[in-house]
Amino acid sequence: MAAFWTEPDFDDHELVQLVRDARSGLTAIIALHSTHLGPGAGGTRFWHYGNPQDAMRDALRLSRGMSFKNAMAGLPMGGGKAVILADERGTKTKAMLEAFGDAVDALGGRYVTAEDVGISVDDMAIVAQRTRYVSGLAPQGEQAVGGDPGPFTAMGVYHGIRAAVAHKLGSNDLRGIRVAVQGAGSVGAGLARLLARDGAVLTLADINADAVAALADETGAEIAPTDAIMSMSCDVFSPNALGAVLDDDGVARLDCAIVAGAANNQLARPEHGPMLADRGILYAPDYVINAGGIISVTLEYLCRMQGSPCGINEVRARIAQIPERLQQVWRESEASGRSPDQVADAMAMQLIGRGDSA
Ligand code: NAD
Repeated sequence: MAAFWTEPDFDDHELVQLVRDARSGLTAIIALHSTHLGPGAGGTRFWHYGNPQDAMRDALRLSRGMSFKNAMAGLPMGGGKAVILADERGTKTKAMLEAFGDAVDALGGRYVTAEDVGISVDDMAIVAQRTRYVSGLAPQGEQAVGGDPGPFTAMGVYHGIRAAVAHKLGSNDLRGIRVAVQGAGSVGAGLARLLARDGAVLTLADINADAVAALADETGAEIAPTDAIMSMSCDVFSPNALGAVLDDDGVARLDCAIVAGAANNQLARPEHGPMLADRGILYAPDYVINAGGIISVTLEYLCRMQGSPCGINEVRARIAQIPERLQQVWRESEASGRSPDQVADAMAMQLIGRGDSA
């Protein structure tokens, strides 16, 4: 059997740690892809995996993704991720979270954790009793940052959509721009409210019929069946539900000028980025446009470590810079003939000191 660090997913991770705590029953993997720009930052996922290999693959891919996301957001953080391997019943105890906090602490700040799928703000508060290397804690005071990153991610996607519409359609006005929003959860709902405020014409789809009906009522949107939202004739398709929606079938079905949304890992495989470009569809690379949440939790962390709580305006100002990075990617894509995802990957690799000429 080949050594696992020769597998493509390993991609020169600096550290991969298996954490076992017999007393609490904790089994976790902490993966640090790169600390070139700063401590590896990325959330902790609590998930029941079919086998340990899937857990390892998830940790490695997510950790590498965080290196790229943090670098492209201009944050002084590297990339890391942790997964806690849940049992079939999803048993999660205080003792497990405490043991996990001890493991994070033992890394002395090389890894900074936060919430991810299956981990709540309350869970993180338990982890934070054992280590200070935690972000995404509840805000202290009205103007302080922290807590749920969803609204900040929505804000970044909103700015990104405005930039994409200006770039592709030559309009600085969202009035009458037709946006199909897949997913009406934390990010999708926040995004829909911001777009509706600007006069965009919205169609929403979500498997949660009650949530989508309430949001449509509030924003004046139409509702589409979940299996029809990707083929809607629109200006912008915005995926905010699942990853890997841009597969062979998905790319072929699109009837839009722009794809710009928050979902992680939207491209099912690397070739789907060039396929979008071949169809003349402008793509906003997911980890560039969806960085609003990580900007919020990182600033909360950095300010807390420096003992100077930073305000919401600082976070907003950083999120408003997401369009500049997107424009840089799109300009380079047009100049080089490479697709935006390929350009973004190459830029991110350069930023973390692993580019061709690094
Ligand atoms: P969420 O769980 O609050 O919302 C997801 C929504 O998608 C839910 O309402 C769910 O019912 C819906 N959904 C699930 N399957 C669907 C389907 N087949 N068709 C239509 N809708 C479907 O999650 P969220 O926090 O809003 O995140 C949305 C996406 O953005 C996720 O992929 C997440 O990984 C990504 N993301 C989120 C953040 C953040 O700050 N929350 C940051 C970066 C990326």
